[in-house]
Amino acid sequence: MINKFWITAITVGLLASVFAAGWQLGQSDRQLVRNAHAAGGTVNKPTGAAPDRYVYYPGTEELAKDEIRLFACGTGLPAARRDQAATCWLVELGNGDKFLFDIGTGSMVNVAALMIPYDFLTKVFLSHLHTDHWGDLSTLWAGGWTAGRTGPLEIWGPSGATPEMGTKYAIEHFLKAYNWDMQTRNFKLNPAPGKITVHEFDYKGENQVVYQKNGVTIRSWPAIHAGDGPISYALEWEGMKIVIGGDTFPNKWYIKYAKNADVAIHETFLTPDSLVHWYGQSPGQALGVGTQIHTSPPAFGKVMSTIKPRHAIGYHFFNEEGTRWGIYDGVRSIYGGPLSLAADNMVWNITKEKIVERMAISPDQAWSVTGPTKPPAPPTSGVADPLSNIMKAGRWKPAEDAQRSLVDTFKKEYDMK
Ligand SMILES: [Zn+2]
Ligand SMILES: [Zn+2]
Repeated sequence: MINKFWITAITVGLLASVFAAGWQLGQSDRQLVRNAHAAGGTVNKPTGAAPDRYVYYPGTEELAKDEIRLFACGTGLPAARRDQAATCWLVELGNGDKFLFDIGTGSMVNVAALMIPYDFLTKVFLSHLHTDHWGDLSTLWAGGWTAGRTGPLEIWGPSGATPEMGTKYAIEHFLKAYNWDMQTRNFKLNPAPGKITVHEFDYKGENQVVYQKNGVTIRSWPAIHAGDGPISYALEWEGMKIVIGGDTFPNKWYIKYAKNADVAIHETFLTPDSLVHWYGQSPGQALGVGTQIHTSPPAFGKVMSTIKPRHAIGYHFFNEEGTRWGIYDGVRSIYGGPLSLAADNMVWNITKEKIVERMAISPDQAWSVTGPTKPPAPPTSGVADPLSNIMKAGRWKPAEDAQRSLVDTFKKEYDMK
């Protein structure tokens, strides 16, 4: 991170002061925020701290009652890379609710770095079933199960043209595919957190309510992307609206229902030139992917200049020096309003008064933080031992002897028989 920071800082050195001014004004382009200084303002004494925070340190800020924190836990492409996982957004509300929108490949390392107790990360809304939008469900499912989640996951997602193309089918078969994982964990852990409840809804529904609880309404409408099934979401709470577009070519429903959004997220894909140059696609394929299956930067600009959100977020491209400015120029050729070109670990604090964007600074070696609910006890009966006597008989005795003192000391410490 440090190396990249400095290399980029030198490259865009002259822009840094312009950017810092932009942050304070709260209106300028945001994509350079990833190079922001940690803190600023006037430091009045040698032992004093800088008063302003330009980065977000997870776990250190309480949300206000009327505040939303939106976090980009994945903004890239199906071939996830260390700098950018595939699509994932976390919405945290001042009422305590948290929602994951998509959980693309690789995104859980960014979610984990927020050190949120897994018991608070049980609601997942899928926009569609491409792996770059749900490929890391296995990590949340099994990882959260071993790291403190005490109950099942709940997943919302669209139907498809046929039952086998819908979310219910996908999750049922996800659990079948991971049957060995589930059966072996069921014996040692409590089975409840390994269960998944699915809420499938009609992908053709227009602005339909798919979730309503605790003052939060989540709606869906159809998206046009690759095949029937994909949808977009809008979350409404406290008079604010966050739109999570998923993958889509610009469509009439987004134009209609994303209007008046406080934050409108919509894909803006790599330019066809970038797809040829960096991704090795043929010109024909690049044009098809970049302008028909996905949304090109000028098309994104047209969408945002039409719906006029308080803040627009473009994502779904590898965000780096070689790609960013072609996308930026394409968007800016049409749209001049508030804009973020998203990167992983970008965070937005949203209230009716202001929208502030920062980068999160989080640990590479994060542990899960314990929640208020104690983990349920392992089952004492009713679950078959998945390890046979033939296998048990192969245990090597000298290893048992070698660890005997460790086991005895531990048992004494925890008062175990
Ligand atoms: Zn997709
Ligand atoms: Zn995608």
